Amino acid sequence: MINIKLIDKLFENQMLSQSEFETLINNRNEETSDYLFKKAREVRENHYGKSVYLRGLIEFSNYCKNDCLYCGIRRSNKNADRYRLSQEQIMECCEIGYKLGFRTFVLQSGEDPYYTDDMLCQIISEIRKNYSDCAITLSIGEKPKASYKRYKNAGADRYLLRHETASSEHYSKLHPNTLTLEARKKCIYDLKELGFQVGTGFMVGSPFQTTSNLVEDLMFLKELEPQMIGIGPFIPHRDTPFAKKIGGTCELTLFMLGLIRLILPKVLLPSTTALGTIDPRGREKGIMAGGNVVMPNLSPVDVRKKYLLYDNKICMGDEAAECRVCLQKRIESIGYEIEETRGDALK
Ligand code: SAH
Repeated sequence: MINIKLIDKLFENQMLSQSEFETLINNRNEETSDYLFKKAREVRENHYGKSVYLRGLIEFSNYCKNDCLYCGIRRSNKNADRYRLSQEQIMECCEIGYKLGFRTFVLQSGEDPYYTDDMLCQIISEIRKNYSDCAITLSIGEKPKASYKRYKNAGADRYLLRHETASSEHYSKLHPNTLTLEARKKCIYDLKELGFQVGTGFMVGSPFQTTSNLVEDLMFLKELEPQMIGIGPFIPHRDTPFAKKIGGTCELTLFMLGLIRLILPKVLLPSTTALGTIDPRGREKGIMAGGNVVMPNLSPVDVRKKYLLYDNKICMGDEAAECRVCLQKRIESIGYEIEETRGDALK
């Protein structure tokens, strides 16, 4: 009963306290989850109807100077088969994507200094010039504010940089000491100040994560009010120090998605590939829990297998067109529809 009351409170746009959130998360069961998802769908449908937005993900380099303990493309992973896409290859991905109805391109990579700001700006302005009706999203890690500003001026609209965890203590258990939550947050606030539509987020079930950490994540999100939030289960990668750690569950990820939809009703919330990886219908379930975005892969098939953040990633052999058709079927099977627009966040 208490849990239903707490969900109603969130639904009425009141925030919960740290301990109320902990109660809600720790005592969740099928009944409260179903109720939460129903409310979350109600909120998303009030704002976004049955539309699901598409983002075309272009993973353009898996070189990375960082050594995040959870990530398969971390610098120390000698087994990673490294690749970089040229500007021409990136433009080809966009061309294929545009024909398939994509109106957002997400350029993601490891933190790869090979791509200078000049090169990145050239790529961004080329996409901007050829596809004036598309949104350009970057997901290339921590950079000085001056660089972010140059990307913005070149035509980038959005930036994804997950905070990973809002607890500095927890952050330090997931990252080498060259990386800090403080620096991460500074980047996120820089991006916001520069007028990017900002996306942040975290992994569910990452090693050492407590319920209290998850609530801190929710509190941080509420304070930041980002336009987009990417969350997905942590999935171990065999060539990382976390190879033997237990992964996050689909069930808890869905519960967190539902809570986020109630806390930030208008947020753009992807049902992630990681969720689809640990459950064959994970992405559909994510939409049913309040998600409204999917991010299929537009990277060339021959590099797909190389951009491995975690084990058993799905859709590695499929051409972009096949992914597009498959996702459309999945979305329609649950009564939603893919909308071929930029899919900007509502104000
Ligand atoms: N270098 C860019 C892109 C990182 S990859 C950046 O730092 O923003 C995008 C996201 O994948 C990361 O933010 C992280 O949350 C997630 N990720 C990395 N390794 C993962 C793993 N083993 N399981 C689940 N998600 C993972």
